[in-house]
Amino acid sequence: MTLTDAQELKIGLMAEGLTLGSEAAAWLDEVTGGKSLTSADYASTSGLILELDGVWVNAPIHAQNPNFVGVETEYHLERVDDELVVSGRGRSAIARYWPQPAYHGTANQYGPLNNFVFTHADRVRLSPIRGCAMTCDFCNIPFDDPLEVYTLKSIEGSVEAIRVALEDPEQPAHHVLISGGTPKPKDADFHRELYRRVLSAFPEVAVDIMMVPLPGVLDLPELVAHGVAELSINLEVYSRERAREVARHKFNQGLPFYLDFIEEAAGILGPGRVRSMLLVGLEPPEDTLAGVAAIAERGGVPVLSPFRPDPVTPLRATPPPSASVLREVFLAAREIAHAHGIPLGPSCPPCSHNTLNFAEDLEGCRGHAHGEPRMRG
Ligand code: SF4
Repeated sequence: MTLTDAQELKIGLMAEGLTLGSEAAAWLDEVTGGKSLTSADYASTSGLILELDGVWVNAPIHAQNPNFVGVETEYHLERVDDELVVSGRGRSAIARYWPQPAYHGTANQYGPLNNFVFTHADRVRLSPIRGCAMTCDFCNIPFDDPLEVYTLKSIEGSVEAIRVALEDPEQPAHHVLISGGTPKPKDADFHRELYRRVLSAFPEVAVDIMMVPLPGVLDLPELVAHGVAELSINLEVYSRERAREVARHKFNQGLPFYLDFIEEAAGILGPGRVRSMLLVGLEPPEDTLAGVAAIAERGGVPVLSPFRPDPVTPLRATPPPSASVLREVFLAAREIAHAHGIPLGPSCPPCSHNTLNFAEDLEGCRGHAHGEPRMRG
């Protein structure tokens, strides 16, 4: 596979970050009305969401990631002849910018809406709990909110926040991801009730769930009966040695705990509906690729997420993988997944903004978005 300029730019941007030229920065300021440029609610969503010739990228910037993006990088966003252009290392592409929805930064009767939801590209992500019962050193959630502030959020507030995001007048979301932290075992019933309520409230909208497969939380027959679209059961790190260091709780659960559930879920939901994410850059490439094979062998869809050090985490000073490592892992992982008849996920192009893939099927055709995000350029 030969990568296009836009695909190479995505890889370079994820590794090194983006510098905003003065005219592009002024234009962005005008377009956003001075509001935030990013939907930064998670380590991998900290950057500007751009679309380059159909290739979606979340481009980290110095303002959000001073821990690894310099003030001056090799990649620049410029305003040229009334168009946005990203260029760097001898490549360039016309860019379109994804502006934030109107509801970001606002509140309703349940409090700030961003306590519940953030929209990224065409998908709104709901975080039903504050904090997490587990600790992974690459994830900001347990460090933004230590265990003592672990709290369940209002189910009514969660449903209403999703509704607001779907009906946003400026940037409506078109599908839903329920994600966020892992609940304590005593809160399994709360989670199942939340899933039921969200799935029932929006029967016309695709709702995905990303969760650790804790007993009592993910009831597969019940979720299927309520119309869940896809599941994401993330391994994160495949090497057992590395998992013990950076994802202790997940390490203690063991690989079979995840892989067996992926296989069972893929058997029930069917092809292409059970994803599993692996971070690229926290372990040797051969371990990540072994993880890709393990997921695909069980009928899961491997998703590669370039490690992006979050400033609040213990891994803040660990550099992200280089462009050459990202390219090498992408090409090898694609080959492994294809040998199992499975394309790398996700298949939704806007949702690939922070993943190492181009939302293409086995024939190289780009997948369909759930809706048309409103872009500016
Ligand atoms: S289990 Fe998920 S939400 Fe919790 S710390 Fe790990 S990656 Fe973050």
